[in-house]
Amino acid sequence: MIDEQTINIRAIQHYMYCPRRFALLEINNDWAENAFVVKANLLHERVHSGEHDFKSKEKTAKSSIAVYNDDYNIFGITDCIEFIPNKNGIFIDGMEGAFKVRIVEYKPKAPKDQKYHESDSIQLFAQKLCADYIWKTDSEAFIYYADIKRRVKIPFDDKEISDYYDNMIKDFLNEMRNILVTNSIPPRRKSQKCSGCSLHDYCFSKVKTYSVKEKIKALAKTEVE
Ligand code: SF4
Repeated sequence: MIDEQTINIRAIQHYMYCPRRFALLEINNDWAENAFVVKANLLHERVHSGEHDFKSKEKTAKSSIAVYNDDYNIFGITDCIEFIPNKNGIFIDGMEGAFKVRIVEYKPKAPKDQKYHESDSIQLFAQKLCADYIWKTDSEAFIYYADIKRRVKIPFDDKEISDYYDNMIKDFLNEMRNILVTNSIPPRRKSQKCSGCSLHDYCFSKVKTYSVKEKIKALAKTEVE
């Protein structure tokens, strides 16, 4: 069943950037790092280390909270969720009082010509779907761009915008599941920009692509023989 394929929220952004990249990562288990990947990883390591977790009168901030939504069959780990005391808010297990929920996703670089990248906000929308599903609430969502040290609120409270993202994520999830179920790696899109992609050498390899999956299969075969 196609809907039974559980999708990691992180993969949605890979798919949006390039369906072929998503398939190489998920089906072939190919992986490579470049400067962009390392920079993003370092930022997220700092965020997820827990050193920024804190509790004050204004809010409690927690990193690395696992979230999921069974209706969309997606899951992920959030960078940071802030719980803001609010008498009209919701109750959270293990915390005293009622809270509004605010999701904050950290990204290294802000776009130059717009407020936020759509590929960043869709990831946040997926996290919001999960947080709202778990806590039966309507969370706020922000992206923190590290290079400009500023938060940008994503206006998911605007119904037109949230419907737009909802349709987009449903389409993406269908297409991603189709790739996984058929085990097929799509060709490069005509308009695809590849200069920032860490998988460039795998994708355009002149020699046979190194595949972790194939390597394990070959090892298993040798052991049997
Ligand atoms: S090199 Fe280009 S086509 Fe290949 S995975 Fe990366 S972005 Fe996609």
